[in-house]
Amino acid sequence: KADIAMYKAKASGEFHLYSRDDDGTSQRLLVEELRTALTDQQLVVHYQPKIDLGTGEVSGVEALVRWNHPRHGLLYPDRFLDLVEEAGLMAALTRVVLGSALDQAAAWRDAGRPITVAVNLSASSLVDVELPDEVAGMLAARDLPPSALQLEITEEFLMADRERARTILTRLRTNGIEIAVDDFGTGYSSLAYLRDLPIDELKLDRSFILQMADDARATALVASIIALAHSLDLRIVAEGVETETVLAELTVLGCDEAQGYHLSRPLPAAALDDWLDGQVACGPRPMLERARSA
Ligand code: C2E
Ligand code: MG
Ligand code: MG
Ligand code: MG
Repeated sequence: KADIAMYKAKASGEFHLYSRDDDGTSQRLLVEELRTALTDQQLVVHYQPKIDLGTGEVSGVEALVRWNHPRHGLLYPDRFLDLVEEAGLMAALTRVVLGSALDQAAAWRDAGRPITVAVNLSASSLVDVELPDEVAGMLAARDLPPSALQLEITEEFLMADRERARTILTRLRTNGIEIAVDDFGTGYSSLAYLRDLPIDELKLDRSFILQMADDARATALVASIIALAHSLDLRIVAEGVETETVLAELTVLGCDEAQGYHLSRPLPAAALDDWLDGQVACGPRPMLERARSA
């Protein structure tokens, strides 16, 4: 499609968009609208549960940002995150999402549901030296323990600047916040590097999980990645679980947690509350029993 979206930073730090067609104009407009979105609370956060496959209980929720655009409706991150990064607005977005997610975590805690909320960090967060102290302050302001928050950083970003990643993650984790490696399996980490990183959890990229449905070799690969994670004392979460069959297979393979449309789509907080009420009404369903009777 359009060969556009080329930003050049001027010495002033201002960004200008150079384009060869109309799409460029609309992209530039989108940047202006983004600035408004950040201040006018047009960014909304949806939450997707993660299930502990041992107990069947909800082990946490992932916060996923959406842009409630006044004309285009609900936009998904794939539509605007690159633009946020290019326009230098990612630090601002991260703080907006963290603020909403922690407000929600505090509300859940007050309602007797101490749910851990996971927030996604971008590449630029790894050079954001203020972030660890700010996050600690945001937790304290809401009387939340560090265990209320988990941070996800993609394997790709971790590999891009290893020393910086290690510095920031070490500071965050010293404050007691858990770190998960997102989209694991797509970024070619070396095992030695992985072993020395301050991390708690690997989230196996959904491309591996999707292939399990019709490829026995994919299942064998997932089994070996689960074993790898456990040998490094890391928990492993399967992303993109879309069927009961795959859920059962993952349980038998000893995967720790699962997330995916089969369990629940990402939902607004109020809708997730209803979903959680439903889970409580059913009682926790140990997945291994479910898997064996399937
Ligand atoms: P991610 O962190 O890997 O999040 C998982 C994505 O997979 C989400 O897409 C989720 O809706 C989708 N998903 C969950 N279960 C299934 C399933 O069973 N099947 C399929 N096909 N997809 C599933 P979403 O919400 O569109 O987010 C896309 C990506 O945008 C995220 O990938 C994350 O990298 C990024 N992102 C989302 N919110 C934020 C944010 O607040 N900050 C930053 N920096 N990045 C974010
Ligand atoms: Mg994520
Ligand atoms: Mg992911
Ligand atoms: Mg992803």
